[in-house]
Amino acid sequence: MTEWLREIRGVLLDVDGVLYRGNHVIPGAREFLAFLEGRELPFIYLTNNSTLSPEDYAARLRAKGFPAQTEQVVGSAEATAHFLAHKHPSRPRVLIIGEKGLHQVLDKAGFPLTDNGDEAEVVVVGLDRHLTYAKLAEATYAIRRGAPFYGTNPDRTFPTERGFAPGGGAILAALEAATDCPPTIIGKPEPPIFHLALERLGLPPEHVVMIGDRIETDILGAKRVGLRTVLVLTGVTTRAPSPGPNAPDLVVPDLYALKDQIETSIVSN
Ligand SMILES: [Mg+2]
Repeated sequence: MTEWLREIRGVLLDVDGVLYRGNHVIPGAREFLAFLEGRELPFIYLTNNSTLSPEDYAARLRAKGFPAQTEQVVGSAEATAHFLAHKHPSRPRVLIIGEKGLHQVLDKAGFPLTDNGDEAEVVVVGLDRHLTYAKLAEATYAIRRGAPFYGTNPDRTFPTERGFAPGGGAILAALEAATDCPPTIIGKPEPPIFHLALERLGLPPEHVVMIGDRIETDILGAKRVGLRTVLVLTGVTTRAPSPGPNAPDLVVPDLYALKDQIETSIVSN
């Protein structure tokens, strides 16, 4: 049933709920990455987090004991910069609602930035924990004038120690309410972020597996681009979904179990 595991040549890993939750590293996560390195299976950390640049995100992963080079991180901010560079090669002026990482990657990609909605030619929105009414207003003026409207990721909430806090998707919802214009989303479950990760691995989708904890983003997004999918029950999903077209190819309680499954499939090869 899991014979397809033998065909896997690369791995995409969601981070929150798969490798750690808050400051807590999930048991089996470090061992699984050591296993991938030992088998020389290339892997990419694939995150909808738009607040950090790939450099800073890799440093955060290393601080938690995970092997991470900058090029092994694909976040929704970088995927957005990559997408815009192809879609808008003339580098129009961008108004950002978002944090430092999003500013850094768009600046690095050569886009001039502005806080003024009258000057903005494109609007890009991610999680911004310093959101103000003025920022929402400037973005609204630009979108209502016809500036293309992009969202790094659709997550309406994210988990904190005190409960769920508003995510980038909640800011997108506010702007959609003010403009009647839905954003184009770049992060999971939409294809652009997966395409960038596959390009980075240099592998066709049928040889790559996505490992995630959230059905509606990790699993559905990966299926949409033809990847194999593994759901781990260490994050937001705590029980296996019923079988069906949207079900993952494999459900495991944790990454220890996935490592065992891969070893078994290779031995029985
Ligand atoms: Mg997750």
